[in-house]
Amino acid sequence: MTEIAVVETVASLRAAVAGWHAAGEKVALVPTMGALHSGHIALVKEGQKHARRTVVSIFVNPTQFAPHEDFKKYPRTFDTDRAMLEEAGTDAIFFPPVEAMYPPGYATRVLLLGPAAAGLEDRFRPTHFEGVATVCCKLFTQSRADYAVFGEKDYQQLKVVTRMADDLDLGIEIVPLATIREADGLAMSSRNRYLSIEERERAPVLHRAMQALATRIRNRDDLFRAVSEAQSEIVSAGFELDYLEARHAESLAPVTSLADGPIRLLLAARLGGTRLIDNIAV
Ligand code: AMP
Repeated sequence: MTEIAVVETVASLRAAVAGWHAAGEKVALVPTMGALHSGHIALVKEGQKHARRTVVSIFVNPTQFAPHEDFKKYPRTFDTDRAMLEEAGTDAIFFPPVEAMYPPGYATRVLLLGPAAAGLEDRFRPTHFEGVATVCCKLFTQSRADYAVFGEKDYQQLKVVTRMADDLDLGIEIVPLATIREADGLAMSSRNRYLSIEERERAPVLHRAMQALATRIRNRDDLFRAVSEAQSEIVSAGFELDYLEARHAESLAPVTSLADGPIRLLLAARLGGTRLIDNIAV
């Protein structure tokens, strides 16, 4: 196993990618905030199917966190991340310091409407997608990668980034990957490590409730009643529910029946101090 390159400047990232491109090799970028788990490694493996070279960026992006959110306490586990990426055969890690991404005087933001204003995450995290779109736009142009792999776990984010890459003609193809789950159905997330043992046992309720709801919708139960009963079930299980909604899987517009489909169920719920998000297809 060769030692993985860790690059911290845009110039060295560009030099690495230019070298690969000169050799006729395609490059896939996997943007992450670190604290890696098997879901992230699955993104790398997906990237390797599309491109000879993969770069994983690890950057806890301050502009996508609101002041009251967990930016400071977000898990940072670089040594373990590096070992996992080496094992996965990643070619390089882009690990820029905050000052390299947002130097003094930095003044540009990428602001989207459409999927970023669908009334889901954006209702609870009003500046979140501005931060996500800005950092992803920078990462795409910094790396000049051919592909970028994103998880469906963050479904609205996937739609936002795909829209942005298209709208701005960034010349990068966004590759989606299905959510990787624990054996009990809980979507893998870096934030799962915040859960207490008791909360961790309760957390799979979310996926089970969504699966049962999807079945009811497929069986043509009244959509409004099925959604509100699933919402109540989640609240009764001790979660604070930000939202559980049925939306059009592509436009994220509200839907009222299967006829408006294809439908995606999306939710965000808090358990203790931890905010969990998940989504499934109907
Ligand atoms: P983050 O976990 O916020 O660093 O996200 C980095 C990338 O990993 C995003 O594209 C996420 O959608 C993706 N991701 C996170 N968790 C999962 C998962 N359980 N399955 C698939 N992709 C995931």
